[in-house]
Amino acid sequence: MNTYPSVPPALLPGRTLDNEGFWENARRHQLVIPECRQCDHVYYPISPRCPNCFSEDVGWQRAPTTGIVSSWVRYHKRYYPWIEPPYIVALVELLPTVRMTTLLWPPPSGQPAVGSRVSLGFVDLSEEVTLPVFALDESPEQRKKPV
Ligand SMILES: [Zn+2]
Repeated sequence: MNTYPSVPPALLPGRTLDNEGFWENARRHQLVIPECRQCDHVYYPISPRCPNCFSEDVGWQRAPTTGIVSSWVRYHKRYYPWIEPPYIVALVELLPTVRMTTLLWPPPSGQPAVGSRVSLGFVDLSEEVTLPVFALDESPEQRKKPV
């Protein structure tokens, strides 16, 4: 587990009343997503109102720990002090109604294919902020594939 005590607070994710449960669970290495208590709809991104029935009666449920890469992009510019480019940001499908923009970490050895399986992990950025990330499930055969 790595921590990055030198990360300026302005570069850490902002906490609000709406997303506090998400970040508090992430700090304990648990990924949660919003769930509507009125219609059982699970969704992401976080919103205080259910996008299906517009109820404000929403809570949290544990998210799946595996997903599928729907799309991805490789960043070559440094935006944050804790990550050295190039790195990959992916859109990961966790459920049919839940796609999460996330860091693929550790960086895959090659180019991820759409449909690749990924598994949940966490990077502790500070004492208070832990970032959920996903690692590409690379079989030995996949690691040998040319890019
Ligand atoms: Zn609802």
